[in-house]
Amino acid sequence: MKPDIKGLHHDHIDGSLAVRDVIDGLYALADREFPFPSVGAWLDFFRNPRQDIVRRFATVTDVLQTAEALRTLGYAYGRRRSQEGFGYVEAKFAPQYHLRSGLTLKEAAEAMIEGLRQAESEFGIVIFPVIGIGREADPEMGVEIARVTLEYDGEVGLDLVCDEANHPPEKHLPAFRLTFGSRVRRDCHAGEWVAAEPTDTYRARLLQNVRTAVHELKVDGIGHAIPLADDPELMRYMAGQGIRVAGCPLSNLDSGLIEDVSELRIDRLLEADIIYTLNPDDDLFLPPPTEVIARCDDAYGFTAIQCRQLEGNVFRGAFDRRIGP
Ligand SMILES: [Zn+2]
Repeated sequence: MKPDIKGLHHDHIDGSLAVRDVIDGLYALADREFPFPSVGAWLDFFRNPRQDIVRRFATVTDVLQTAEALRTLGYAYGRRRSQEGFGYVEAKFAPQYHLRSGLTLKEAAEAMIEGLRQAESEFGIVIFPVIGIGREADPEMGVEIARVTLEYDGEVGLDLVCDEANHPPEKHLPAFRLTFGSRVRRDCHAGEWVAAEPTDTYRARLLQNVRTAVHELKVDGIGHAIPLADDPELMRYMAGQGIRVAGCPLSNLDSGLIEDVSELRIDRLLEADIIYTLNPDDDLFLPPPTEVIARCDDAYGFTAIQCRQLEGNVFRGAFDRRIGP
C-alpha cells in the first residue's frame, strides 16, 4: 500500500528538478550563452556519472551568483513542488556556493528566501528554508553561516551538508553550539558515508557520526542515518526526544551506499516510533519523490499503519512552527 505523502524534509534546491525548469533562463540572466544545444542535452551531461561531479555542478552554480538568479531558482522550486502536490517542504541550500560575484552570506540567503516566500504566497505551499554549511568550509565560515540562521529566529533551519567522509560532524560543533538555546532547528547529514577503509569498522564509524550529531551537535533531525536500526538504544533516545530522520533511500541506493533499500530497515524504524520520512535528496539527477515512494513500497509492502506513520511524520517532524510542534 502506497503512502500519500504531502511533504518533504530532505530536498536540496540546487539539486532539484526546479533547476531544469530555469537553467536556460539562469544563463540568460547571467548574460551567458547556454553552453549546450538544449536543456535535454545539458541534463544528459549533468546526470552522467562518468563526467566529473565538480564540472557537472559548475554548470549550475556558475549562474547562481546574483540575488536575481537565486530569487528565480527559489521561486521555481516552490512552484514546482506545489504543482507536484506538496503542501509543505523544507528547502535546503548552501549560501557559501553563491558568493563569487560579491554577495555576502546574508545577501545570498536573503535572495533565495525571497524567491521561496514569493512562491509560498502565490501557490499556497508552506516552505521552510534550511541553510546548509558545506562541511568542507572551515569552522570559522561555519560559525558565520550559523550566525545568519540566528537572524531568522527559528524561521530558517541549519544543516550540515556534503562530504561527510572527510569532514565529520564534530568539525562544525562551534557553529552548532552557537545556536544552542535559540529557536533555530538543527539538522545534520550523518550516517550517509565515511571513508571506505578500514572496512571492518565502516558501519560503526557511520553510526558514530549519527551519535555525534545527536549528542554533541544536539540536532533536531538527521539526514540519512543509514545504520540507525543497528542501535536500539540510540533509536529509543531519538524517538523519545522526537529527533526525526529524513531518509533518502534511492539516493543511498543510486550512490552505491546500500545494495537494497530493505537494508535501511524502515519498518523497524517506524516500529521504534522514529519520525522517519521518505525524501528524494536531489531529483535533478536522482529519482523523484513518486519513484522513491513506489520503490520503497515494493521493497517493504507498507501496511496501512506504516503508511499513516510515513504520511503523519511529515507534519509531526516539521521544523516549521506553522506546521509542526
Ligand atoms: Zn541531502
